[in-house]
Amino acid sequence: NKPPCECNNCYTGNDCSLLLQDCPVDANSGDPLFLEPFWMRQAERSAVLVSGWHRMSYIYQDGTSVSKELEKVIRKLHGVVGNAITENRFVIFGSGSTQLLAAAVHALSFIESSSPPARLLASVPFYAMYKEQAEFFDSAHLKFEGDAFAWKKSEDSDNVTQVIEVVTSPNNPDGMLKRAVLQGPNVKTVHDYAYYWPYFSPITVPADEDLSLFSLSKTTGHAGSRFGTNLSVYEKMKRYVTLSSMGVSRVTQLQVLELLKVVVSDGGDEIFSFGYETLKKRWDTLNKIFSMSNRFSLQTTKPEYCNYFKKVRDFTPSYAWVKCERVEDTNCYEIFRAAKITGRSGKVFGSEERFVRLSLIRSQDDFDHLIDMLKKLVSRGADFI
Ligand code: PMP
Repeated sequence: NKPPCECNNCYTGNDCSLLLQDCPVDANSGDPLFLEPFWMRQAERSAVLVSGWHRMSYIYQDGTSVSKELEKVIRKLHGVVGNAITENRFVIFGSGSTQLLAAAVHALSFIESSSPPARLLASVPFYAMYKEQAEFFDSAHLKFEGDAFAWKKSEDSDNVTQVIEVVTSPNNPDGMLKRAVLQGPNVKTVHDYAYYWPYFSPITVPADEDLSLFSLSKTTGHAGSRFGTNLSVYEKMKRYVTLSSMGVSRVTQLQVLELLKVVVSDGGDEIFSFGYETLKKRWDTLNKIFSMSNRFSLQTTKPEYCNYFKKVRDFTPSYAWVKCERVEDTNCYEIFRAAKITGRSGKVFGSEERFVRLSLIRSQDDFDHLIDMLKKLVSRGADFI
């Protein structure tokens, strides 16, 4: 039981179990707290104690035994899950896959100064960070161009301009397994596999791409630890990471090593089963509510065989990608906001305002609260079938 002082805003009572009426719910960020109960059970095994005099020097990824051990355990994890081939690949750590994404785009957009800037593309709906980073860093070598399908159809797709496509699979926001839209001698591809873990998706084939990003945030749920892995275009990416942060802190590396040791100790059985069962229950609850509505609809996916669980299973994505079906409901984000549910507008993902994304991977309290508010919204008036 949490003490009362730690109750989240909308809960009260001695054990924080009483939900306040009509308190607005935050379903915006993808804070992966759904794994918190697992780590509470592993409190002792996963703890790290570091004395002040320990690990004081700068870190170079290949320079310490912790880094080497960490690389080993990362390769082992991908091996037991079957979500990436790591043999004969470089692994690079960064401060989250956010930093590695910038490093990858930097490395791949390195072209002669006389050439026009490389174009960065992703198919709609896409994770907004790709656009925001490109616009913020404002490099002379790179321009964010938007939807990969639109580019393919356009006259500009001239097979001369250098193109970088980011392929997010499973996709944020809709959870679909995506493939690259663009091919050709001038196309380079970055695969963002942040969500390619058995919690969210069947593991259908191991990733075997030139450059793949994975994120600790969606592996163990430690979003704050800012740590990620990557393959290839190694030297330029390593230089980027060194110049932007002088490498990942040694204490973070040590903590990540201890966390991943716990994860792989039983082949990932406990954490992946716990995470998948949690999200499966959440999706069952959500599907039941939305099945009572003809005003709102959810994305649909067909079950696929999962090489990790060795069975056909549903997709259980991190986010609900909700569509407002009524012609007059043009701004879905606003409709949900008026019902005191804060999601993220479809527009943020390069898509229509008719969509809103709701996060399903937050804490159990947040999810229960979301369900409470969704029931109220869906059951209101003529919307009920
Ligand atoms: N890629 C995708 C598709 C994401 O959704 C996120 C986080 N929401 C990231 C990358 C960033 O991950 P990290 O926390 O490792 O920086």
